[in-house]
Amino acid sequence: MADRRSSVFIVLLILVSLLVVVSVPGVCPASGRTNVTDINYWSYPEYTRIVVTLSEKADFSQKRLSRPDRLYFDIKGSAIKSELKTSLPIGNGMLKSVRAAQFDEDTVRVVLDLEKVTEYKVFRLEDPERIVIDVFGAPLQPTLSMKKRIVIDPGHGGHDPGAVGPKKLYEKDVVLDIALKLKKLLSGNPNFEVYLTRDSDVFIPLEQRTAIANSKHADLFVSIHANASPHRDAKGIETYFLNWTNDEEAMKVAARENQISLKRMQKMQRERDVLNVMLDDLKRDNKRDESMALAHSIQDTLAGALQKDYSHTVDLGVKWAPFYVLFGAQMPSVLVEVSFISNPVEEKLLSRDGYRGVLAKSIASGITKYMAAIPDSRTVAAYGKRGGSEN
Ligand SMILES: [Zn+2]
Repeated sequence: MADRRSSVFIVLLILVSLLVVVSVPGVCPASGRTNVTDINYWSYPEYTRIVVTLSEKADFSQKRLSRPDRLYFDIKGSAIKSELKTSLPIGNGMLKSVRAAQFDEDTVRVVLDLEKVTEYKVFRLEDPERIVIDVFGAPLQPTLSMKKRIVIDPGHGGHDPGAVGPKKLYEKDVVLDIALKLKKLLSGNPNFEVYLTRDSDVFIPLEQRTAIANSKHADLFVSIHANASPHRDAKGIETYFLNWTNDEEAMKVAARENQISLKRMQKMQRERDVLNVMLDDLKRDNKRDESMALAHSIQDTLAGALQKDYSHTVDLGVKWAPFYVLFGAQMPSVLVEVSFISNPVEEKLLSRDGYRGVLAKSIASGITKYMAAIPDSRTVAAYGKRGGSEN
């Protein structure tokens, strides 16, 4: 762990929502210049995510220096807002502070004063432009627990209702209820430790959701959503893992969940060749093969169970698309679209406690099967044989 290579990967992606910890009213940037407008962070004992927000796209370079240990980013052609608080004390044993200042006429330098950092990663985000820095510290204590940690992420919440059905059923409410049921079911397995990114009707920015999973050292991340389409007869269930896609329907689903336009998604898709260099990192970090296996386990179990009780259920299969909520996850991660809330028949089903229960039970069963199939989970398999709460 201590010798893990510092790896840096940069991914262009577009997010719209952001929890602003440090926020200042806008000032006019000098023409043609990028402004550093915000710096905020989420601090956990062994992991910290720092987000530097820019008024527009800018090139940057980075360097790590020793004595004292620090990491800096030089943002080219940029200016820092004079009102922006330029020193943020963090002091979590990993990071002392984050500072930002006008380094020279044309450069803003953001400095992370490091204490005990084993690895860091950098993402680049769009709309608004952001530099996201994930910093990892040494584990505080070796994990003695054999338990597998599962983070369940009910999509949307608070001011973001997600998709809204013809009878005004909200995606955020449906997926929260399914996630709560799922947590209850999985928690019945003594080999699992289960967390939710939200357990009430609150808004959580997309980038905070994976930050929560990373901070828990989760073994799995499962985001729960309900699908929607302008075609009212669209129906069925599908499970996604993170990857680029040429499939327009998959891209539409991702665009909706990412809350950006399809045009923007297509632009990002076109730019992906430029980003090829970083795709290997993306593949490794998100454990793509494991994510695909997890997606199949959940989708197959879900489709099988539903087709038994609800014969009309359409199995749309396992797909892939660039869902921002899956970017930056350090563990196998998937996104489940449990039915179409835009379809009047499926909206009605989604409003029913029994249907939600079947969905939760099937997803739990798919997760348990996946866990039993991976190495280092003999205890889980044994538990399954004894007849656990799943199935
Ligand atoms: Zn959604």
